[in-house]
Amino acid sequence: MTLQHIKSLKCLICNKEYPESEVGYVCPDHGNEGILDVIYDYEALQTKFSRQDLSESRDFSIWRYKPLLPVAPESEVPLLAVGWTPLYKATRLSSELSLKNLWIKDDGRQATASFKDRASAVAIVKAREKHAEIITTASTGNAAAALSGLCASVGQSNVIFVPESAPQAKIAQLLVFGSRVALVQGTYDDAFELCLEAAETFGWYNRNTGFNPYMTEGKKTVAYEICEQLNWQAPDKIFVSVGDGCIIGGVHKGLKDLYQLGWIDHIPKIYGIQAEGSSYLYQAWKNEEDIMTKPAVEATTIADSISAGLPRDRIKALAAVKETDGAYLSVTDQEILSAVTGLARGSGVFGEPAGAAAFAGLKKAVSEGLVTHQDSVVVINTGSGLKDIPSALESCKLAKSEPKIVPPKPGNLKELFQDLF
Ligand SMILES: *Cc1c(COP(=O)(O)O)cnc(C)c1O
Ligand SMILES: [Zn+2]
Repeated sequence: MTLQHIKSLKCLICNKEYPESEVGYVCPDHGNEGILDVIYDYEALQTKFSRQDLSESRDFSIWRYKPLLPVAPESEVPLLAVGWTPLYKATRLSSELSLKNLWIKDDGRQATASFKDRASAVAIVKAREKHAEIITTASTGNAAAALSGLCASVGQSNVIFVPESAPQAKIAQLLVFGSRVALVQGTYDDAFELCLEAAETFGWYNRNTGFNPYMTEGKKTVAYEICEQLNWQAPDKIFVSVGDGCIIGGVHKGLKDLYQLGWIDHIPKIYGIQAEGSSYLYQAWKNEEDIMTKPAVEATTIADSISAGLPRDRIKALAAVKETDGAYLSVTDQEILSAVTGLARGSGVFGEPAGAAAFAGLKKAVSEGLVTHQDSVVVINTGSGLKDIPSALESCKLAKSEPKIVPPKPGNLKELFQDLF
């Protein structure tokens, strides 16, 4: 199947370009590190697709942007609703932070409750275009849950590799949706290597992040949505948490697409937020280290979804910040935990730790003067707080919120409740 609107797949290391139909996942000359970027024919796209078409579209999902995605026009898309998540104007949080314009993009509202649905939806369409019998992925939990749920919606077999330390809710999702699950007695990085080997050995379709070039393409839809929801007035700054770096690379790609098409007049600065205990990219950016030679770091953080010792999509992730003149910031687990309650109480959006980390990063950026009153800012919440209840309860403990235990038949209500209100 040749896709008319795609010019080539370009290696991020050697810049060599390959026809879409002639290459698997990575640059043959550069192996697993040779991540490919999908290059579109923007001139042709400009004549075929417009903002006007979108304003008339009744499809409120990522597929409203199908002409800008790497799939055939006639390909069937999965049934579950993916994308077009709400963008909330967060007025109380903005005044708390002395900002004029702050929005929260809530991707906890996806079908399987995380941002990863955007990528997994595209993976399924690609795998089915190739008539794959089995799709596989390694994941810290959410990419797996997304693939698992979307596979269930179309009856697609799949095999999932997750570290045994993944939060229970995420493992439960996999089992409920009927995936075959390998619980790896090791880290996400171990699960990733094992999955690559299994995909190669058994010939399975490989959805892995920072390996399959189309995952960035699914993730870029968040940038399309943000700009369209803001009436094509791109914000000044976008905050997003970073593990493997695929989401941040996707945000960047989406913005570049829109700019190329002439649909936005500037590219926002991108801020990547990492947990202090898993801050490979923050370190590399700050110390100007070479990410092709910098070894993996030991990754430990409460924000399991951004725990990645060797970020697989680090080339795209670093470019996103450098090319937009943004910054990387690192936040402690304590700051992340207090951002969970801070974000929830200030906006009604309940994020898992990795989601709330972006908000913790905004707070830090404001305190460091990287964001000022005039800036319009979007913070992406990447996952629902219900994904990780033990961490949520930990956040409440930190905020000194505890329920009051009351007997079933209280004698003196006034006395009982005097310290509750
Ligand atoms: C995967 C994930 C991230 C990080 O995305 P990367 O592409 O790995 O950088 C952040 N938050 C949540 C909730 C995630 O599931
Ligand atoms: Zn190459």
